[in-house]
Amino acid sequence: MKTMETKVAKFGGSSLADAGQFQKVRAIVSSDPERRYVVASAPGKRHAGDKKITDMLYACQCLAAEGEPFDALFDEIAGRYTNIAGELGLAVDIRGALEDIRQALRAGCDPDFAASRGEYLSGLLLADYLDYTFVDAAQGIFFDKSGALDAERTQAGLSALLEQYPRAVIPGFYGALPDGRVHTFSRGGSDITGAIVARAVNAILYENWTDVPGCLMADPRVVDQPDIIDEITYRELRELSYMGATVLHEDAIFPVRKAGIDIVIRDTNAPDQPGTRIAHVPSGDARQRVITGIAGRKDFSVISIEKAMMNAELGFGRRVLQALEELHISFEHLPTGIDTMCVICNEYQLDGKREQLLRRIYELTEPDSVEIHAQMALIATVGRGMVHARGTSAKLFDALSKAGVNVRMIDQGSSEINIIVGVNNADFERAVRAIYTAFVE
Ligand code: ASP
Repeated sequence: MKTMETKVAKFGGSSLADAGQFQKVRAIVSSDPERRYVVASAPGKRHAGDKKITDMLYACQCLAAEGEPFDALFDEIAGRYTNIAGELGLAVDIRGALEDIRQALRAGCDPDFAASRGEYLSGLLLADYLDYTFVDAAQGIFFDKSGALDAERTQAGLSALLEQYPRAVIPGFYGALPDGRVHTFSRGGSDITGAIVARAVNAILYENWTDVPGCLMADPRVVDQPDIIDEITYRELRELSYMGATVLHEDAIFPVRKAGIDIVIRDTNAPDQPGTRIAHVPSGDARQRVITGIAGRKDFSVISIEKAMMNAELGFGRRVLQALEELHISFEHLPTGIDTMCVICNEYQLDGKREQLLRRIYELTEPDSVEIHAQMALIATVGRGMVHARGTSAKLFDALSKAGVNVRMIDQGSSEINIIVGVNNADFERAVRAIYTAFVE
């Protein structure tokens, strides 16, 4: 007989914002018996203008630490949980748990402990509602003394712990320090918990349930209603996120990528939609497009250095980079031509250092010219389909030229799934729209 496969389902704050959302979550979990481990966020906003529980807990802790009254705010938090418990008819002693937390705040607990209680309480409610075992993350997710995740200890401890429970709810966002104190990940960290749990139970899939229908092909503030990406590889995702596309917490990718587990982003409010699959190996089911997504960022500077015969000069590149290193400037790209070398940096890196940098490059390399061009935007057009499609760059540059966009830099060398162009900040939106239209519409 085939043993049952395991999926891990993580639900974000908006998916657990009130009793109605809890009902959707239960319908999703119970519709697939493979959804055996569920990771819960703290209740998020129910509507625009609402407050997130995590923010309220941080605020309570601040008030308590300053000796200010925090009871009114804490009552609001308590109300959110008792309402959910009441509406769903849950038996778990949520009032008792809330009172313990109020006491801990009064006794001067630290911000991490206070904030972690958002997911702790949410997990208690969800475990009761799903009839799953509640497993406290502090028993299986471990940080080292410096607060960094102890990945190996966690992997060993958490898999042994969860093996005892065929179905469990684990609160997201936190774990324990070596001395047992609670420690949280950075904000949005329940995504990381989901990934860690998926690795620990050797899941076939990590489902990340949220309130968007999937990853979009472009920023919806720039392109009107961009299409959803059906499937994206980990490599493509890395290229896009580096350029500013945000999907999951960055640190959530690593544990599952390493373990060979795919991620799927799904919408709790539209569970019949397939969402976006982040895959190691593309399944081939998805509609094959030439490009997968477009992302970009503004505010880069290009330092452009020219010197005839620089190619023949030993150590030229090293000396340019030495100048940057001495001034503690890190760079993003390094496109080079025959007698030119460009260094692209985030603009803020050069603040207060421009004159010094120019001087130092002159001293070290004796170039024909050095200039800094500011206010440049970089746009990455990413797609595994580009490798095989002929004429992709021609199409891209044609689209940009028809849109009247002047391309100031091109970098296609190092990754065949990504073409990066540099344009003036002012042309950024127009350029992204032109590329999107050329390839998608
Ligand atoms: N509740 C935490 C936050 O708001 C963690 C999370 O939701 O992922 O950052």
